[in-house]
Amino acid sequence: MPEPADDPILFQIVEKAVHSMTPDKKKQIFQNWMTLNYEQGVDYTLLWRILAVLGIIGFFAVYRHISVNRYNIKLGRLNRELVAANKKLATISYLDGLTGISNRRKFDSVLEDEWKRCERNNLTLTLMLMDIDHFKRFNDRYGHLHGDDCLKTVATCVESLLRRPGDFVARYGGEEFGIVVPGIDASGAEILAQKILDQILALKIANQGSDVSAYLTVSIGVISTVPTRSLPAKWFLNKADQLLYRAKENGRNQYRLETL
Ligand code: GH3
Ligand code: MG
Ligand code: MG
Repeated sequence: MPEPADDPILFQIVEKAVHSMTPDKKKQIFQNWMTLNYEQGVDYTLLWRILAVLGIIGFFAVYRHISVNRYNIKLGRLNRELVAANKKLATISYLDGLTGISNRRKFDSVLEDEWKRCERNNLTLTLMLMDIDHFKRFNDRYGHLHGDDCLKTVATCVESLLRRPGDFVARYGGEEFGIVVPGIDASGAEILAQKILDQILALKIANQGSDVSAYLTVSIGVISTVPTRSLPAKWFLNKADQLLYRAKENGRNQYRLETL
């Protein structure tokens, strides 16, 4: 309301207007101006939006967790398959395809290992290189396929004679076999070499082309020693090879042994 001193004309006009109003009208105007209505309302839209966003995030998190889980299970299975395949491959790579016994690769690693092991434990190590006598003549007379069967029979025969843990035979190449025997002395090596000669002969595999015997025979170079750090395993192998050569020269179907 204007004060009378501020604007007397306006004051009179307003005063007249106020006086002309009914008490009800005055009350109504008074209530309109003086009443404050507090409307308490919650805006749920934002809440729903937040919940929707959280829901979507949650869905993707669960989906991702399930996918990663599935992927991990699959990966684990593939890993196990890979390990098994690698194991199989490693085994195959150490086997001779024809005879099924160990191959030259395995022989080299076993000889190297046994050389070191016997050196550490001060044990005698025996190495034999065995070669079938006049096998070329055998092939020429009976055919290469029969020759293959013969190699398998010889391999199985030698394998059956090596019974102690650590005893080892491999096809060294062609019609040659390498035998590694740790822990026997020279007389034990002689007994074993003679046994091999006897058992191969006892197989009675005809080899009519041989001038040694009517049956298949072998020659063996045998070397026995306690390995020393100063000598490599290769030296041992060369020695066995020289002794095999001497057995051949000396008439075949025999072993030649040297101890150091
Ligand atoms: P030696 O008594 O001096 O050892 O005479 P050898 O005839 O056994 O030796 P040589 O080295 O002259 O011939 C080896 C033969 O072995 C020739 C080769 O055809 C045969 N041979 C090598 N590997 C295999 C094979 O996997 N299968 C067959 N059937 N024969 C093989
Ligand atoms: Mg040979
Ligand atoms: Mg031969």
